[in-house]
Amino acid sequence: MSLGLYIHIPFCRRKCFYCDFPSYTGLEHLYSAYVAALCREIADQGGILSGAVVDTVFIGGGTPTVLSGKLLAAVMDSIRQAFKLADNTEISIEANPGTADRSMLDQLRQCGVNRMSFGVQSFSDPVLAALGRIHTAGEAVQAVELAQKAGFENLNLDLMYGLPDQSLHDLHDSLAMAYRLNVRHLSVYGLKVEEGTGFAYLANQGRLNLPDDELDDAMYEAVMDSMPKLGFARYEISNFARPGYQCRHNLKYWQYQPYLGLGAAAHSFIDGQRRANVSDVQTYIDSVSSGQPPVVLIEQPDRQTAMAEFCFLALRTVQGLSVSQFQHCFSCDFFSVYQFAVDRLVRKGAVIVAGDNVRLTALGMKFGNQVFSEFLL
Ligand code: SF4
Repeated sequence: MSLGLYIHIPFCRRKCFYCDFPSYTGLEHLYSAYVAALCREIADQGGILSGAVVDTVFIGGGTPTVLSGKLLAAVMDSIRQAFKLADNTEISIEANPGTADRSMLDQLRQCGVNRMSFGVQSFSDPVLAALGRIHTAGEAVQAVELAQKAGFENLNLDLMYGLPDQSLHDLHDSLAMAYRLNVRHLSVYGLKVEEGTGFAYLANQGRLNLPDDELDDAMYEAVMDSMPKLGFARYEISNFARPGYQCRHNLKYWQYQPYLGLGAAAHSFIDGQRRANVSDVQTYIDSVSSGQPPVVLIEQPDRQTAMAEFCFLALRTVQGLSVSQFQHCFSCDFFSVYQFAVDRLVRKGAVIVAGDNVRLTALGMKFGNQVFSEFLL
């Protein structure tokens, strides 16, 4: 079995105002104990999944690079000791500008990390300040150039649109800067105000100055229009890559491939079963250190739920879902289950059927969530 490994580092220097990810600030005193527990969980799971060949590793967060290079190297050493890695394993790490200096970048290269993903979000300083980011636009440029000097060629930038006080001009500038920096991959997300975040608090008080629907729509269209002109092909609703630089790890999520999540709040999908680890960092450390699995959720989705998940994950990709893969996974004909839904979506211009694939049109991609609901049985 080929397997993706996701390693969660749940620490950040400061909480961004829009963030609802499982990441915590002020826990520097737990970094070493957390990594020790993580290495133990890696070793335990490597023993259980000894037949697996890992071909993607994604160290995400949080901000993994708040840890020292030495601690990150210890994590990579544990992975190599516990799992068999394929020769061409994609090994990604997330970083924020200002958290990875040259010596850490060199250490990451030595550990075999071959892809970096920078959370940049925007190249406008006022927009970054409104998001509560810890870095300026200039620091983001420096971080990318430093990574390139250290030998990282496969770089992703996360960018956002629909942000407070962001103009269409700001967005165009950010896309143009990403192009000039010659990165290989862009993830471009529209802001969603999530409950419990600083932005939700401000929105409830009427103090969040978001673009109106018309401007938000213009920003979406600007991204879609600009990407091909800048040489990035869309391969998933929010992800764009130069040829040969699609993120192989993230493709596993959408293509219903198995992955193992390790660390606090990490999720796994193996043999059709979904599992989640405890989010609280101290509880995670205590569980693993005492030999207990840190798993708090095990779900075996029923057949109908699994089919729906398969469909809306695959439909996120430009390639769409493979009818033959559906048949292989569920031993039944896709159209015997979904003919009615597909016909309706084809009539609406949201879906097309081409050979073995059912995929979203540009319109379907724009209104993905409404399309996905048609696949709930
Ligand atoms: S850096 Fe990322 S994970 Fe950390 S608070 Fe900001 S958005 Fe959340």
